[in-house]
Amino acid sequence: MTQLDHQKFLILVVDDTRKNLQLVIEILDEAGYLTTFAVDGKQALQRVPVTKPDLILLDIMMPEMNGIEVCRTLKNDKNYQNIPIIFLTAMGEQSTLMQAFEEGAVDYITKPFKKYELLARVKTHLELKQTRDKLLAAYLRLEQLVLTDPLTGVPNRRYLLQAGEQEFSRTRRYQRPLSILMIDIDYFRNINNDYGHDVGDKALKLVATTIQQCLRSVDGFGRFGGEEFVVLLPETKIEDALSAAERIRQSVAQIPLELESIPRQITVSIGVAEFINTDESLEQLLKRADEALFKAKDQGRNQTVAGTTS
Ligand code: GH3
Ligand code: MG
Ligand code: MG
Repeated sequence: MTQLDHQKFLILVVDDTRKNLQLVIEILDEAGYLTTFAVDGKQALQRVPVTKPDLILLDIMMPEMNGIEVCRTLKNDKNYQNIPIIFLTAMGEQSTLMQAFEEGAVDYITKPFKKYELLARVKTHLELKQTRDKLLAAYLRLEQLVLTDPLTGVPNRRYLLQAGEQEFSRTRRYQRPLSILMIDIDYFRNINNDYGHDVGDKALKLVATTIQQCLRSVDGFGRFGGEEFVVLLPETKIEDALSAAERIRQSVAQIPLELESIPRQITVSIGVAEFINTDESLEQLLKRADEALFKAKDQGRNQTVAGTTS
């Protein structure tokens, strides 16, 4: 286990009895922790957003607002609910402890407490929180990596299939419209062949950002494979999906691409499909968009074609 760097942690101590407050603060200061304090529940709730403590030592019995209420308020606020709270209780307050744990306390210390006991419990919960925070950060980073295409930085096929499944079931359940676009760069092999793979990569990134700029924030978008992209358009019927596709097609065709000082146009072909009631899976919808894309290629490329539902 990594050493705990005490100076990195700020502990908020809340107690209405000055003598207790002083004692706890002295012990924590001596151990090297940063400390701050509050003398009642209201003040504690004001201190938390300002000081953002890593842990709170909270007296249960306080006039006006007691420790249980402070705890409840913090645990209901998603900004602060992860701050560990250790209750300070006097002998004879055991009955309130159950309630304290129910409200989200992680531990308690009975007054009069031993110095080593206070420090041991504080250290344990700071270490636990530190480990949990690191795990969460690693998880979020990993999740992002798993769903992102490394070359273009846009979401990848795995993301599209996940988001697509979600949209698909929502669409079926609530009978809402959903359309998708399957977009493929025309004659992309020639760009690689004529200018090399690096230039091809740059062109791919440009096309990805250009498509992204054409979309609403609710639309799903990602790289489906090689030089193929998919757009998910929730709440969109085929007519509007076709206009969105045309907007994308024209924007891509206008990318000012200069390769070896010679202007060169990139174009895309787009297949469009809308959800119909007989669709039983996302695959069926994707398949119709793919067939429409194939038709667009067949008819000469650089065009948008709607899928047929016969
Ligand atoms: P079409 O108009 O029929 O779509 O022709 P195309 O040349 O675009 O299609 P084809 O499927 O024959 O070729 C796709 C090319 O895309 C081949 C492959 O080398 C290239 N490609 C796929 N992924 C990447 C990539 O990550 N970077 C680069 N530079 N090229 C890629
Ligand atoms: Mg292609
Ligand atoms: Mg292709």
